[in-house]
Amino acid sequence: MNVTIIGTGYVGLVTGVALSHVGHKVTCVGRNKEKIDEINVGIAPFYEPGLEALLKKMRLGAFLQASIEFEKSVLISDVIIIAVGTPTIGNKIDLTSIKKVAIHIGKSLSKDKKYRLIIVKSTVLPTVTEKVVRPLIEKYSKKNIGEFGLCMNPEFLREGNAVEDAIHPDRIVIGAFDEKSGKMARKLYKAFDCPKVITSLSTAEMIKYAANSLFATMISFSNEIANICSSIEGVDVQDVWKGVHLDSRLSPKVPKGRITPGMLSYIQSGCGYGGSCFPKDVKALSHFAKEQKVSHEILKSVISVNESQPKQIISLLLQAIGSAKNKKIAILGLAFKPNTDDLRESPSLIVISELLQRGARVVAHDPVVYSKGKRKELEAFDISYVQTYEEALKKSDAVIVMTSWDEYIQISPSEFIKEMKSAVVIDGRRIYNKEQFIHKGIIYKGVGLSLI
Ligand code: NAD
Repeated sequence: MNVTIIGTGYVGLVTGVALSHVGHKVTCVGRNKEKIDEINVGIAPFYEPGLEALLKKMRLGAFLQASIEFEKSVLISDVIIIAVGTPTIGNKIDLTSIKKVAIHIGKSLSKDKKYRLIIVKSTVLPTVTEKVVRPLIEKYSKKNIGEFGLCMNPEFLREGNAVEDAIHPDRIVIGAFDEKSGKMARKLYKAFDCPKVITSLSTAEMIKYAANSLFATMISFSNEIANICSSIEGVDVQDVWKGVHLDSRLSPKVPKGRITPGMLSYIQSGCGYGGSCFPKDVKALSHFAKEQKVSHEILKSVISVNESQPKQIISLLLQAIGSAKNKKIAILGLAFKPNTDDLRESPSLIVISELLQRGARVVAHDPVVYSKGKRKELEAFDISYVQTYEEALKKSDAVIVMTSWDEYIQISPSEFIKEMKSAVVIDGRRIYNKEQFIHKGIIYKGVGLSLI
């Protein structure tokens, strides 16, 4: 099938690569000519493991192209996928891009009589596909639904693992307006060997919010438990989770041991969730529930625990060094999680901003953030950025580990002692062995570790 994808961000481009990988002819439409030219020579505009290699392969086989020509790309398609951003303004979902794209698609569809399927892949609240996207396309195409098809197909890829997730999805959810639309979407995804869940448009929309809110809830719950643990003598939340995780309902017993489900990584304490999805999606759902006049106490608490968690990191630092004023603080990790360069809503940026307000000198390192030209997002912060973590540690008064990159996990206690002015390690992700660090004389503080 000829597939046109609007949006060349994490979701649009990765989906494009995955669909071309199974034999569809994909055109990814963007607005930035420079970015489009780069994609056309196999350069990904952001960091995602495995993406560039597959992109190059798909380009060479002419399965995928990128274009800035919106109408032309729509007119060559059988299926159009909308994958533009849906950020929040305040707590409310911002549908500006979705609306613009729906209008543009409508205008393009008016140019001929061909039936095409439009798929909303962007995360949108229940009823948006039906009540916002559909009427705009109908109005501007001068066609009634039925002359074009409509589906809502939420995306579940995880940044850092996006290519693998898109090529081998756990499930594909297809909210279909009618049978014909659903049938065409099934054909699109025929080559993907996974359960296909066919639902109404609004159920598909809700599945995405329920999934993200569930994971965010587990993280905030784990952080609240960590903060309670810190107040009890001799308790370490890591040991608490070890004991909890071994419940066979969480780690089922199998003949040769235990299964460790991926969900356990969300029942771990740290410095809070970030990224382009959880923060905005939980806020958007909470706001939606408020508008629906439905009680949503859990969602409100999930948000408030998450917003205060970076402050726990600052308070651990202050317990160790007193004041941050004029101290050199090394930050290891800028991205909200390893294997991505995404800085959106990263707890690291919240911690940096708090440190600067307290008069600290901040030196930051991240293994990939700068390689894709993300400097712009950091321009607001008066910090130095260095190319190696050793440089960040050099003569620092304390280090805060904000992202659990493999290369940080490998750092030994002796290295911290060798490089730093005073060996104070704040482990925001609990990646180190506390006994080893304390034994070597490091002042080691971690989330959920008893402060008494
Ligand atoms: P992104 O910001 O990385 O990419 C969005 C892209 O859309 C940008 O490149 C932007 O320039 C482009 N765009 C906006 N308006 C356009 C227009 N009129 N024409 C052409 N391009 C246009 O966003 P993303 O992370 O890819 O997320 C896209 C959607 O998918 C969001 O709704 C998000 O919530 C959802 N989602 C994201 C993830 C993720 O991990 N990033 C996972 C699942 C779902």
